[in-house]
Amino acid sequence: MRSGIGYDIHRLVSGRKLILGGVDIPFEKGLLGHSDADVLIHAVCDALLGAAALGDIGIHFPDTDAAYKGISSMVLLDKTVQLLESRGFSAVNVDITILAQAPKLSPFRKAIQENIAGSLHLAEGCVNVKATTTEGLGAIGNGEGIAALCVAMINQRDEKLETLL
Ligand code: MG
Repeated sequence: MRSGIGYDIHRLVSGRKLILGGVDIPFEKGLLGHSDADVLIHAVCDALLGAAALGDIGIHFPDTDAAYKGISSMVLLDKTVQLLESRGFSAVNVDITILAQAPKLSPFRKAIQENIAGSLHLAEGCVNVKATTTEGLGAIGNGEGIAALCVAMINQRDEKLETLL
């Protein structure tokens, strides 16, 4: 078993869609970024890559690469899972915290959980999504951006053990 942590933050701006966990969330602003700026999925990718000691999302999917412009971060998550699988790793569980002053995210929690569980080939009970405000404090509290934290546990296939079984 190995664990990894991921953190990301993106700026909220007018004229962009707000995509969190692959869900299009109705809001007056959206997150700015090279991809769809899904801050939650970026934190999940970094936690998984961290657990596998495979660097970070910026190394694998650089924001200087036109191939990733406007891309759905769910595609980046699928590619991250493939990368882990190619090295014998699979996800065990993930726990996510979204830091956002607005909008209210509880109506979208289940859809986000289902999306992530699908990509990670996990039961929904192995994916937890929670959200908090920062009580109006700081840049997030002022509505300038949204951040996300993720902790991931992964498992490495033991080939020696599999030979014995
Ligand atoms: Mg990001």
